[in-house]
Amino acid sequence: MLTIAEAEEIWRWSRRLATCFGSQNLEERCQAINTLLADASSRPHISLHDGRPHLHYSAADASAAAHIRAITAAGLAYMVCFAGADRLGRCARSGCGLAFVDTSRNGRRAYCSVRCANNDAVARHRGRRRSAD
Ligand SMILES: [Zn+2]
Ligand SMILES: [Zn+2]
Repeated sequence: MLTIAEAEEIWRWSRRLATCFGSQNLEERCQAINTLLADASSRPHISLHDGRPHLHYSAADASAAAHIRAITAAGLAYMVCFAGADRLGRCARSGCGLAFVDTSRNGRRAYCSVRCANNDAVARHRGRRRSAD
C-alpha cells in the first residue's frame, strides 16, 4: 500500500518520464534519460530467485517508488538503445499529447490510440470540407 507522499512522488516521476517522449532530438532525449537514470539511484544486479538469471534494477528492500523509478528509467534507456529513440512517441491529436511506446512493426505510429487516430481523421476531413465550401 502506498502512502500519499509516495503516490505524489510517483506522480512527479511520471511527469519527468513524460518529458522523454515526443519529438526532441536524440541528444536531448538521451540526456533527459541519463538524468532519470542518475536520479533513480538504480542498482542493477542479476537475480536468480526464480532459477534463471535476470536483471533486477533496485535493491530488494527498496520502496515501491524506488522500484518504479529504477525500472522505468532503465526501460526508457533500453527502448532508446535497442528499439530506437523514435519509438517514444507523443500523440499527434491536438488536445491529447499522451506519451506512448510505438510497438508497431514499421515504427510510424503518430497517435496514442485508434480512437485518437479516428478522431483526428474525422477532424481533418471536416476541415477539408469546410475549406472546400
Ligand atoms: Zn525477478
Ligand atoms: Zn491521443
